[in-house]
Amino acid sequence: MTAPRPSQDDRPVIVLGPNPTPNGGMHLGHIAGPYLAGDVYARYQRARGRDVIFSTGTDDSQTFVLATARRRGVSPEELCDSSTEAIREALTAIGISFDGFGPFDDTYRATVLDYFAALHAAGKFRLRTVRMPFLERTGEFIVEGLIEGDCPVCLSSSRGGLCETCCHPNNFDELIDPHSTIDRGEIPVTRPATILVFPMEEYRERLIAYHEAWAPYWRPHMVQMVRELLSRPLADLPVTYPISWGMPAPFPETPGQVLNAWLELIPAGMYTTSYCAARRGRDIPPGQLWLPAENRRLVHFLGFDNAYFFCLAHMALLMAHGDDAYIRPEWILANEFYELESEKFSTSAGHVVSVQDLLSEVPRDVARLYLALTAPEYQRTTFSRAGLDKIASRRLADPWNQLAATLGKAVANASGCAPLPVTDGGRARAEAMRARFDTCYEVPGYSLNRAAETILIQISRLARHAAGLDGTPLADAGPRWGDLFLETKALLALAAPILIDLSAAASRSGGYDGVLTAGAFDVADVMPFTPPALPAADPLAG
Ligand SMILES: [Zn+2]
Repeated sequence: MTAPRPSQDDRPVIVLGPNPTPNGGMHLGHIAGPYLAGDVYARYQRARGRDVIFSTGTDDSQTFVLATARRRGVSPEELCDSSTEAIREALTAIGISFDGFGPFDDTYRATVLDYFAALHAAGKFRLRTVRMPFLERTGEFIVEGLIEGDCPVCLSSSRGGLCETCCHPNNFDELIDPHSTIDRGEIPVTRPATILVFPMEEYRERLIAYHEAWAPYWRPHMVQMVRELLSRPLADLPVTYPISWGMPAPFPETPGQVLNAWLELIPAGMYTTSYCAARRGRDIPPGQLWLPAENRRLVHFLGFDNAYFFCLAHMALLMAHGDDAYIRPEWILANEFYELESEKFSTSAGHVVSVQDLLSEVPRDVARLYLALTAPEYQRTTFSRAGLDKIASRRLADPWNQLAATLGKAVANASGCAPLPVTDGGRARAEAMRARFDTCYEVPGYSLNRAAETILIQISRLARHAAGLDGTPLADAGPRWGDLFLETKALLALAAPILIDLSAAASRSGGYDGVLTAGAFDVADVMPFTPPALPAADPLAG
């Protein structure tokens, strides 16, 4: 495979975040993970003039919904409704620019069932009798979010099905010392159950070929995990479970069973992308945008804890549909865990900082920049409220507002505004900024951390230049002012995927036209404008 050059790749783009599980609201760890990363990526692709579909929808079939509902004493349906509302509110509040949020409706279900019915009809599943954890008191099998124990691979505490620490699957009766997650004192026995599985091992050669082609471009932890999994026999993937919560599996061999909820995520992505297309007036069947003839670039943002499914299970299921049936993700960007003041964000521990809570104290752009700057891209990172305050004032709002005030004063003191000439040096610096941001916003080097840091570096640099010109009339230093206005305009355009409100305000005052194609800053002159100010964050109360 030749090295991909995404910066020159103008194919339409599908951007997917993981479908949020509606078993509670969204905390900052979720946002700093795949959702902000997907949003900034989608916004940059749009600014490059590419056709983008960025979609999601909730993942109601997960056993985590049932487990949380039982712990809270509400019905799972009620929990889904209230959580979906809270999730949508949080995503909107922080400015995640989904083109559509597909409802969990009959079309969703039909899309998932068609996807699995085709594999079943093609003989891709196997019937297996396995031993599964069973609670004698309730007469129920417990799997996935309903059971916890120690991971048989890394020995960390793990839920059933997948360990979120090492990302290895653990199926059936493999958890060590398991207990129920609804009542931790309840210890399951095991009972035989006959279920359908998907034989992952049969896809080994194709999975290795796919991964080795992409490994040079993916983040190292994910590559390590995939290689480790591929170095041992690949476990059968459970397709059905004998439990009561989830989508009924339509197979005659497994009456009364449901589909493994994790496996819904690819057909769910097909459904949400077609849902977005329909909102734009293109009424197409789900899956249409995933046909090779559509020639789209598919980019997935997800937490490392889901990466086994996206890198291996979903990939093998797509392969089982046939080599030319659907496109496959070209880029999978997995993030690590985000902590709150060096502790795990946890809905159950009751110390969640919700998105809405933070936004009641901090302007949205400040929150987005700080989350981008500290996002856990390569390793675990932590949110610090005091750290946010420091960055927000010293490195963001203070220097930006000095820059904006100096430019605004020069415009106010000029008698009428005419375009100012720009020098070769000014054009070259604006182009250097564009090239630098492109390496942050484009795969394979995509990095929210570096994009946010680059914004702060450029604000500091331009504020210094502005201080040197402060008090000089526009007419007396034409090209130097022209260069500064051009570079400030470039910064607003290049920061726009993160500082969404500042850029929107700047576009209203003529400072930003939203275009980021090559040569966008190759201009002879620039119209001076008054940049908007950034509101400051309220300092931490107390
Ligand atoms: Zn593990």
